[in-house]
Amino acid sequence: MSPSGNVILTEADAAVYMNFMKSHSCYDAIPTSCKLVIFDTKLQVRKAFYALVANGLRAAPLWDSKLQRFVGMLTITDFINILHCYYRSPMVRMTELQYHVYLKCSDHILISISPEASLFDAIYSLLKYKIHRLPVMDPESGNVLHILTHKRILNIAIYLHHFFLLFFFMSAFPKPAFMGRQIQELGIGTFRNIATVQQTATLYEALAIFVERRVSALPVVDEQGKVVSLYSRFDVINLAAQKSYNNLDMPMQEVIRRRSSFVEGVIKCYPYETLETIIDRIVNAEVHRLVLVDRADVVKGIISLSDLLQAMVLTPAGIDALLS
Ligand code: ADP
Ligand code: ADP
Ligand code: AMP
Repeated sequence: MSPSGNVILTEADAAVYMNFMKSHSCYDAIPTSCKLVIFDTKLQVRKAFYALVANGLRAAPLWDSKLQRFVGMLTITDFINILHCYYRSPMVRMTELQYHVYLKCSDHILISISPEASLFDAIYSLLKYKIHRLPVMDPESGNVLHILTHKRILNIAIYLHHFFLLFFFMSAFPKPAFMGRQIQELGIGTFRNIATVQQTATLYEALAIFVERRVSALPVVDEQGKVVSLYSRFDVINLAAQKSYNNLDMPMQEVIRRRSSFVEGVIKCYPYETLETIIDRIVNAEVHRLVLVDRADVVKGIISLSDLLQAMVLTPAGIDALLS
């Protein structure tokens, strides 16, 4: 068992993923072309979030023109923290949204990684610092080249790995045995103290749970604890898109009804399903986590990309970055 209670994948095969991540660099994960938007710290909070929506982005590095360096990252979590901090009622306008994004830069540090660093190091930083956006920064020019996420790392690893297998005609080789083991047996994920929100709760209450528990998504549940929907931090940016952040007293049922989401229903999994099935489902659905439920749809856990990367890449190296 690892310190967090997860089963360590001790089979020799488990090292395959760790070695793969160690032998590929962040440079390998940078696409040939991509859009990168940078915000000046003097930009107004309200305009910054509209700009994220307009550009279909989830985050932007913050540039301080006086200091001539990057001083942080603006993400949807910051939007949630600002709304939660300054919201009073639907009748009171949040004038604080006119402030500069500098408002949120308390630590003035941008956590970044060099293109030469390994994907293993990138995973370690994402999990250790509990962030979801890791800029790849050219050490010479100081330019941000790309922003790495868990999803990007997993997708590029799957792509490169398939290519590697085909190239060496190894596709007939057996898969690591642990891929066929049940998720409940492997213990990958979080199974206790799951943060959820009642469908009758207000949006403000949901934002308070995000702030307090620092989780990336909340299963929305009914009185019996059955999952009826999923509300992720990403969905909060809809409030900027729809200019509806002035009414956070709205019940979650209504928020879910109005939300525009590319995902239909809740992407779930069951304790008896295998690791392979779970990886296939999370990758195909392009979501950051699955909600683990029992046969009655009652929420029993969360299996996120962080848990999968921890178990498959860091645990075999004896590192538990999710702990603490
Ligand atoms: P989200 O899931 O909403 O995209 P994150 O989990 O990445 O947000 O961010 C959590 C907090 O950490 C936010 O306050 C954000 O500003 C900060 N943060 C995220 N990435 C970085 C980074 N690379 N360097 C410094 N701070 C960061
Ligand atoms: P990100 O790409 O920022 O990590 P998420 O995966 O958290 O974003 O969310 C992207 C969209 O997918 C959101 O609309 C969210 O509600 C939806 N979503 C994420 N996970 C699930 C899930 N397990 N079931 C249903 N919808 C989900
Ligand atoms: P994430 O922020 O989704 O990458 O996950 C970081 C850790 O938080 C993982 O161990 C997840 O299993 C856990 N986690 C994510 N969402 C929840 C939640 N709603 N309740 C409890 N734990 C969660």
